[in-house]
Amino acid sequence: MIEEGRFFVPGPTEVRPEVLDAMRRPMIFHRTPEMEALMERAMRRLGMVFGTGRTVHVISGSGTAAMELAVRSGTLRRVLAVVHGDFGERFARMAESCGREVVRLTCEPGDVVPLDRVREALAGGGFDAVTVTHSETAVGVLADVEGIARIARESGECLVLVDAVSSAGGAPIAMDAWGVDCVVSASQKALAVPPGLGFAAASARLLERARVARDRGTYLDLLRYEEFAARWQSPTTPAIPLLYALDVQMEAIEREGLVTRFERHRAMAAACADWIDRAAGQGAPVQIVAKAGHRSPTVTAIRSAAAPAILAGMRAEGFTLGGGQAPIAGNSFRIGHMGDHSVPGVRRLLDALERVLRTL
Ligand code: PMP
Repeated sequence: MIEEGRFFVPGPTEVRPEVLDAMRRPMIFHRTPEMEALMERAMRRLGMVFGTGRTVHVISGSGTAAMELAVRSGTLRRVLAVVHGDFGERFARMAESCGREVVRLTCEPGDVVPLDRVREALAGGGFDAVTVTHSETAVGVLADVEGIARIARESGECLVLVDAVSSAGGAPIAMDAWGVDCVVSASQKALAVPPGLGFAAASARLLERARVARDRGTYLDLLRYEEFAARWQSPTTPAIPLLYALDVQMEAIEREGLVTRFERHRAMAAACADWIDRAAGQGAPVQIVAKAGHRSPTVTAIRSAAAPAILAGMRAEGFTLGGGQAPIAGNSFRIGHMGDHSVPGVRRLLDALERVLRTL
């Protein structure tokens, strides 16, 4: 665990030296039993994180690549997009750029789209899939994926595609139990591996859909990933150094245990939220964007007219935080408390934030 973290961007997050060092190992040929063993370990361990017995594909590309795989293989004509912020919007725009018709369900920043609105929209019928961002990194909101999936399953053919880029490894995900058809994620967030790997798991229903999807493309063709995964390989030359890093980190995650890891994330988020709420109560110009009860355990977005001065002050204190993101870009900042960060580390950050707020 990192006790004296300084880098609290909501992805990429701080990576431990041991994980970085793993990337210095010599290359191996990717069509060998050695690589297959490495890939098998990665896929199996990611399956635990995703809560699935399905294969979790490892894509050499960032999280957005995995999102595009989900859209191209999982949708044909019409998509319902639950949009809680910038990344929900990215899913929606991606579907549009792939020629799909998209209906958006939106809400005020920090709020969540009520399940009744999802039910109502789906009752209109005709949607191939619903897209949703589990942890909306732009505003720090955690969506009720289980609830949305339950409603989508009631309405028959509609698949559920989930962006878990900033939740996987930091919040519980139960892909199979929730009836989710696709979970995608990436290496650089709560899994605390350097950026460059995308992950995607597909249900049997999604594979059926992919077989009739006409624009799966080549690089992100889910069916090619499935074909190669049958022998623990990837269709193209994988980012081998990142797989080394992933191997070391997934072993550490297994050692920590997912329950302990999720509890640590919950505790970091609570430490952050309690402190900000208390500061706000004492008149400091800070306010948590996400409503209580809908907060992500991995990222806290804070609304503040003083955001630029706070970010600069924190930089002077040696801490890097995340800037604000649409739709509240200019007047907010974000703390990424994910990956291998710790509660003592978050407290150090909050001590520095207190000093910065006093100077305002
Ligand atoms: N979705 C979410 C929720 C994210 O936080 C991010 C990255 N900030 C992405 C998608 C895109 O991931 P990447 O930058 O790895 O393509």
